[in-house]
Amino acid sequence: MLAPDGVTRVSSLLRYGNFIADQWRDAVAGGEIVIKNPSDGSDLATIARGTKADVDLAVEAARAALGGDWGRMSATARGRVLHKISDAVLRHIDRLTELESKDVGKPLTQARADVVALARYFEFYGASADKVHGDTLPYQNGFTVFTLYEPHGVTGHIIPWNYPMQILGRSLGAALAMGNAAVVKPAEEACLTALEFARIAKEAGLPPGALNIVTGLGAEAGAALAEHSGVNHISFTGSRRTGELVQAAAAKNTVPVTLELGGKSPQIVFADADLERALPFLVNAGIQNAGQTCSASSRILVERGVYEEVVARMSALYRALKVGPASADPAVGPVVSLRQKTIIETYLDLARKDGLRIAAQGELAADAPAGGAYVLPTLLRDVPADHPLMQEEIFGPVQAIAPFDMEEEAIALANGTAYGLVCGIWTRDGGRQFRLARAIQSGQVFVNNYGAGGGIELPFGGVKRSGHGREKGFEALYGFATLKTVSVYHG
Ligand code: NAD
Repeated sequence: MLAPDGVTRVSSLLRYGNFIADQWRDAVAGGEIVIKNPSDGSDLATIARGTKADVDLAVEAARAALGGDWGRMSATARGRVLHKISDAVLRHIDRLTELESKDVGKPLTQARADVVALARYFEFYGASADKVHGDTLPYQNGFTVFTLYEPHGVTGHIIPWNYPMQILGRSLGAALAMGNAAVVKPAEEACLTALEFARIAKEAGLPPGALNIVTGLGAEAGAALAEHSGVNHISFTGSRRTGELVQAAAAKNTVPVTLELGGKSPQIVFADADLERALPFLVNAGIQNAGQTCSASSRILVERGVYEEVVARMSALYRALKVGPASADPAVGPVVSLRQKTIIETYLDLARKDGLRIAAQGELAADAPAGGAYVLPTLLRDVPADHPLMQEEIFGPVQAIAPFDMEEEAIALANGTAYGLVCGIWTRDGGRQFRLARAIQSGQVFVNNYGAGGGIELPFGGVKRSGHGREKGFEALYGFATLKTVSVYHG
């Protein structure tokens, strides 16, 4: 049996259950999954291996919440609860930081920034809850017509492992602000902070059933949530392949889906750019979170006149990068798992086999434990536009750099992948800034900066195979609502 706070210790292992209707529960089928610390390969915790039976219970609890205290709360009261959750998250910042760092290998500073972002999402959406309103519409004489934004009902949230707290915050914060009741399926590699968050939200006063969490494997708990006929909206963040499965499953119930998929986001550097300012962005956007960022800038396109200078200066920054255990707070920690390390190394093997040139690599710290999932940050130069290293999302600390000659060529290269999530443009030429901002096919464009990781206020999402729908900002609230038109005839 689980302790009332949901966490028990079996020797040195933490043991977590599902969180359903404010109760901690073992999986109905009794299964568990062992979670490893990617910094050293040691066992860290066990989580429940939820299946369809657990998802059924969670959806039922969410439905009950909509008919209960949660459903009856005014928008203002919901906003106040979200603010209390935000404050409570910050009170638990040390615990959440340490847990995230051990669970997914995030260096401490980066894990801490994710806790701050989680709190900020609840602050932002807490303040927005009572500011979403419809319109009155001019219509025929004798009628008054108005629109109402209403919650979808039960929302399903399928979360990836790369920014577990940030993505939980952006999706759940907006859904709860609009009055939905949520069922969350975190990634099996990254459940622990979501479960701790549930405990924090309960303490802060979130009514029972407004948030339910079922952990487990994607093909079991995730698939059961995506195809559940009691779910009214699915928010999915993850890979393209899984996104297609989730959209197909939701289509059977005709429910809307928000898909936040991957990217192959470019930064375009023109010869007139302020290189001093650009350089840290060029590198950090590729190696932050060990490159496991959907908005990572994995392609750097540079005007030929400054190409060799940019390669040399980026190379110097790469050589200074230390890769080590998350607890030592290096620039680059381990990747999330040995499985992910193998995927990235397969791409690096391909690069070597095809004769691509390595411009520079980072260095493994002397204290990096042997069992850790470490990958050296790697900058590859002169990579052809059609090579898989320039086309496919690697999700590791690997960047490809190549030169271009003309503005039109830069646009064609930037738009020349299946993806369209984020783009950075570095130039002092005002006309060019606006031309490119319009010509680039992506959900966000940054001019002389690159910051999709932050910016809770800024709508975020993709075009093409990067997905559809927008999260973050005010825009997300409309995505988590359905619009009702009311026409009153009064003569
Ligand atoms: P993934 O698609 O393997 O898993 C994402 C989530 O889906 C996990 O919770 C997983 O358990 C679940 N899942 C797996 N199979 C499922 C199924 N059949 N049905 C329902 N759910 C299922 O992706 P990942 O490896 O966790 O994350 C990496 C990918 O996510 C990368 O491609 C990255 O670009 C993308 N990503 C995108 C964004 C964004 O906002 N655009 C943010 C983070 C990550």
